[in-house]
Amino acid sequence: MSRLWVPRRVLVTPSAIARDSGAAMVERARALGSEIVALTADRLSGLPDTYRDAKTTMAIVTASASRRRLQPIPPSADWRYDLAEGCPAHCSYCYLAGSLAGPPIVRVYANLEEILGELPAALGQGRVTSVSADRAQEGTTFECSCYTDPLAIEHLTGSLAASIAYFGAWDAAVQLRFTTKFDAVGPLLSLPHRGRTRVRFSVNALAAERHEGGAPRMAARLAALRAMAQAGYPVGLTVAPIMRVPEWAEAYDALFASVAGALEGVAGVDLTAELITHRFTPKSKDVLVSWYPGSKLEMDEAQRSRKMTKFGSVKWVFPKEQMQEMRGTIEASLKRHLPFARHLYWT
Ligand code: SF4
Repeated sequence: MSRLWVPRRVLVTPSAIARDSGAAMVERARALGSEIVALTADRLSGLPDTYRDAKTTMAIVTASASRRRLQPIPPSADWRYDLAEGCPAHCSYCYLAGSLAGPPIVRVYANLEEILGELPAALGQGRVTSVSADRAQEGTTFECSCYTDPLAIEHLTGSLAASIAYFGAWDAAVQLRFTTKFDAVGPLLSLPHRGRTRVRFSVNALAAERHEGGAPRMAARLAALRAMAQAGYPVGLTVAPIMRVPEWAEAYDALFASVAGALEGVAGVDLTAELITHRFTPKSKDVLVSWYPGSKLEMDEAQRSRKMTKFGSVKWVFPKEQMQEMRGTIEASLKRHLPFARHLYWT
């Protein structure tokens, strides 16, 4: 198993430490050797301004009412809720660069009960799986990995295990979903999940590993995928971000062959696949270039097509012909190696 992340400094607000779960997070971090800084007000202060210091800082806070409000999250799920914001890994394409503002610290929420308390009102209300003929059997879906990798910090928070147990005990057509690049699944294997949590492992062609500092290698993620499938969890692949790496067709074919190998002999696997191509925005490019000035990641507007997002901002995607070629080839590889996988979308 890969090494667990230990934040160098942990800031905790008075409201967070007053809760049992916040105090437990502090104790876990202290036991691992983090320096604990108890703040005197709920507003975060003294935040680091360098990338390096920010990425080794964790803040334990409570999620305000506005942060707890559920948001639709197409095409993945009906709703999004957050256990945390930020991630300790150093992926040079990280999608959080375009969505989170401020220094890239990890903020974790100590008021999970209140966060989960918002979920029942959304039952049957979504506009993605709830209204899709193909995905209706998933029920109302809730995604908790939009702004973090929840498994990367689970040894500090315990929030993912609590969410899995909450969905396991929720007698309704619901599903918890999360994506991870991490592999510390041991504590999740024996949870009473009752098939209501789908874990998707974020995987890619091997050439992508050079852009994924601080995340476990692909082989470790595949071993974790196998362990979760054996434990009866619905599982999935988030193939992202799909890039035109050298010999990309062979590279993605090899990826699906290794997934098939990892799942060999596991009975009754329920596997989905989500295929997401690399894109960037002017904002995410600026942030990523400042964080990873030496990165070889291609973010060249001249090689891309300009598209408008539904929020009216610009994103740069692969040109249409390249997109069609990649889609046809990669989807065919998926079908050949993993004919039992349910392909949810290409984007
Ligand atoms: S693991 Fe995911 S969230 Fe974390 S740095 Fe990498 S891309 Fe970003």
